[in-house]
Amino acid sequence: MATQLAPDNHPQARQEKLISLENVTKSFPIKKGFFNRTVGQIQAVTNVSLDIYKGETLGIVGESGCGKSTLGRCILQLIRPTSGRVLFEGQDLTQLNNRQMRPIRRDMQIVFQNPYSSLDPRMTIGNTLAEPFLIHNMARGKKLRDEVRGLLDLVGLPSSAINRYPHELSGGQRQRVGIARAIALKPKFIVADEPVSALDVSVQAQILNLMMDLKKEFGLTYLFIAHNLSVVEYISDRVAVMYLGKIIETAPARQLYEKPLHPYTQALLSAISIPDPDFDHSKRILLEGDLPSPANPPSGCRFHTRCPYKIEVCEQVVPENETFLPDHIAQCHRVREISL
Ligand code: SF4
Repeated sequence: MATQLAPDNHPQARQEKLISLENVTKSFPIKKGFFNRTVGQIQAVTNVSLDIYKGETLGIVGESGCGKSTLGRCILQLIRPTSGRVLFEGQDLTQLNNRQMRPIRRDMQIVFQNPYSSLDPRMTIGNTLAEPFLIHNMARGKKLRDEVRGLLDLVGLPSSAINRYPHELSGGQRQRVGIARAIALKPKFIVADEPVSALDVSVQAQILNLMMDLKKEFGLTYLFIAHNLSVVEYISDRVAVMYLGKIIETAPARQLYEKPLHPYTQALLSAISIPDPDFDHSKRILLEGDLPSPANPPSGCRFHTRCPYKIEVCEQVVPENETFLPDHIAQCHRVREISL
């Protein structure tokens, strides 16, 4: 299968890869009956090949249930892939056991969607932020207290928050704690899994700006997962679009939003509300039907059951990755007719 590696003459080829996914697949067994027999497989992620470059923010978008979060967790090895390789700085993480993964976990962190459920309600913010240093034996005593105060300052929280509990903070403040915990050990890579979707719109921009400032300050690399396309456009350098466990289009953010190639991406983008009274609403592409079940994905192109451009070959042949413009990759048999 063709991979999503940047061709040698593309700007990305000159950037250093931090992470490479090679045909990563994750399926979950469907169990049934008294004997808990396996009667099928849910294919959450199928044959994903993707590079993440040092210092970039790669946004992942798609409808809920398309496999975005599973992919993020497979990269971090919080869920072990069923097959394929996940290379972090050239080392295949899928070959490491939990003990061997421990030092690497310092370099790879996650910010969760719901900061309330990801923080222990019985622990003060100070203890929550001290925990990573204690687990990895990196600071104690005064140094530890200074580290925790420094973290609070970095994410814009007062040092008085040290003695507070999660329920005493607002949603935005709790997510600042979640971010502080993720950056505590100065990681290289962070998976941000819908980090602002549980927050008020007024707070979302503050958290996104904080994440961008921290990225600049610490040279972080982000995988930013979201279903809100406007949020992803705001923060991402590159965007990958996921449909039913597969990445069907990848491009630099501006290019993807200005000229989406895949019919699914076109439909997703045309559904964004545009505050322009002159906008021609007849250009909207309506996505009909629900996302098919990942337990029984459609043959050929997985989007064919909802695609207005479907032809016979789409039902039978899986489209391969093709590069159409610099760094713009799409999986569709008819891109040249439809979009170019
Ligand atoms: Fe539509 Fe066919 Fe392209 Fe799939 S391959 S997106 S069904 S035109």
